[in-house]
Amino acid sequence: MMQTLHFDNSFVRDLPADPLDGTRRRQVHGALYSRVEPTPVPAPRLIAHSREVASLLGIDAAAVASPAFAQVFGGNALLDGMQPYAANYGGHQFAQWAGQLGDGRAITLGETVNATGERWELQLKGAGPTPYSRSADGRAVLRSSVREFLCSEAMHHLGVPTTRALSLVATGEEVVRDMFYDGHPEPEPGAIVCRVAPSFIRFGNFELPAARGDVALLRRLIDFTIRRDFPELASGESGDRTSETSERLRAEWFGAVCERTARMVAHWMRVGFVHGVMNTDNMSILGLTIDYGPYGWIDDFDLDWTPNTTDAEGRRYRFGQQPQIAYWNLGRLANALAPAFASADPLQAGLKRYADVFVDADRRNIAAKLGLAECRDEDLERMQALHALLQTAEVDMTLFFRALADVNLDAPALAPFGDAFYDDAKRRRAEPEFNDWLARYAARAGRDGLPHGVRRDRMRAANPRYVLRNYLAQQAIDRAGEGDETGITELLDVLRRPYDDQPGRESFALRRPDWARNRPGCSMLSCSS
Ligand code: AMP
Ligand code: MG
Repeated sequence: MMQTLHFDNSFVRDLPADPLDGTRRRQVHGALYSRVEPTPVPAPRLIAHSREVASLLGIDAAAVASPAFAQVFGGNALLDGMQPYAANYGGHQFAQWAGQLGDGRAITLGETVNATGERWELQLKGAGPTPYSRSADGRAVLRSSVREFLCSEAMHHLGVPTTRALSLVATGEEVVRDMFYDGHPEPEPGAIVCRVAPSFIRFGNFELPAARGDVALLRRLIDFTIRRDFPELASGESGDRTSETSERLRAEWFGAVCERTARMVAHWMRVGFVHGVMNTDNMSILGLTIDYGPYGWIDDFDLDWTPNTTDAEGRRYRFGQQPQIAYWNLGRLANALAPAFASADPLQAGLKRYADVFVDADRRNIAAKLGLAECRDEDLERMQALHALLQTAEVDMTLFFRALADVNLDAPALAPFGDAFYDDAKRRRAEPEFNDWLARYAARAGRDGLPHGVRRDRMRAANPRYVLRNYLAQQAIDRAGEGDETGITELLDVLRRPYDDQPGRESFALRRPDWARNRPGCSMLSCSS
């Protein structure tokens, strides 16, 4: 049944491979990937899947239910046409050049082309060691796999550009992890997610050949990426995927990468998503959210919050700094691409485009979140003032913005926001300032003149009711650990319609309960996931 998948593996066909086979850890020069097969697992079993992604790929329900599905997406069998490999890339981690990193626990199975001609790369995460696994095992634990599976799909349904997730498969094998890095490793159940995206190429794929001075290899990857992953730009130029692109086209391409990155980060800020590890090896060239590790969602509004315990000290990847970090990362990419440009001007222009597009997207978000026809300069200040208030008064971001649509502009009051406050004392202290802000806001929105229904719909389309709160994911994980996996599919189902009120599912829209405030998994995570 699944044998109907048609593969066209352009990456391995058009780009140079590591001549060596096997998983011996090594530095790989002059090649963009290494051929490596998934390592079989004892008992692959499908826990959950995304029917939307299955349907994108043309895999029907019977095929998903067949034992072959769990075999293939647990890494125990290959379909005809699959040519598995691990990609070779480098990256800047926490602002330091880290050298070769590569797919240490991800293995691409192949590129499928569906009935409508869309190309989708299938990649297993946690399928065993590769030449890039360094000292690690190439495996993933259930908790981190549940988190990646759910968040990929939740982000998609929120309208945020992201890699997708087809399946979550239990391996029947234990994986040892030191969850808190405190010298107490424990065995945990293992799992594998099949991620799906048009391309998994990262900034780091370009940085590695550039850092090694291998300009020929760098140019090959640039030409390939433009022609395969940005066909809308390349359509004006003749040539196959590997023929040389013009500098004009390369400039347009870098600009497009900058623009997509800006749009992605603006979405993150709109919905309260914190990636947690914005290293350049975790930045997709397509501007997709990629590599869900110690990510988190904002509960009480806090621009300084990071879910990543590994980053607790410097807080480089905190919520409010994400737009600046994306810009910095694009700077690293520009640096890597420079040898393929005669002049730095197009690269500078691309970076400027990032800033322009981000500012524009941010203004649109402000208008939409506040229910205004347009965002004026005074509204930028209005939003900043609100952010400061939300932060000092400890207010839930999702609940606050959702309730803002219900404010009576003729008689603004704090009443609709009752559930959004985490701390009564802080609420009482902030009440006068909130009332003041609301009064000015109501006056502004009133003058704006959007009809009530229009304003409300606009706001509801920008302010989700349901997000993947950290504690909700953790509850589903805890239940799965106790043998009840239904929480995962239940949560996935709620997150399918994040902007709709879903009667009967109010419990998924509540602010973080007190017990979850400082619990591991609910408020803090480490990279070891
Ligand atoms: P991340 O921070 O998850 O993006 O990972 C950074 C690098 O470490 C990438 O090259 C990963 O492939 C690698 N890595 C992370 N976890 C593992 C693991 N369990 N086994 C092998 N490599 C890993
Ligand atoms: Mg990564």
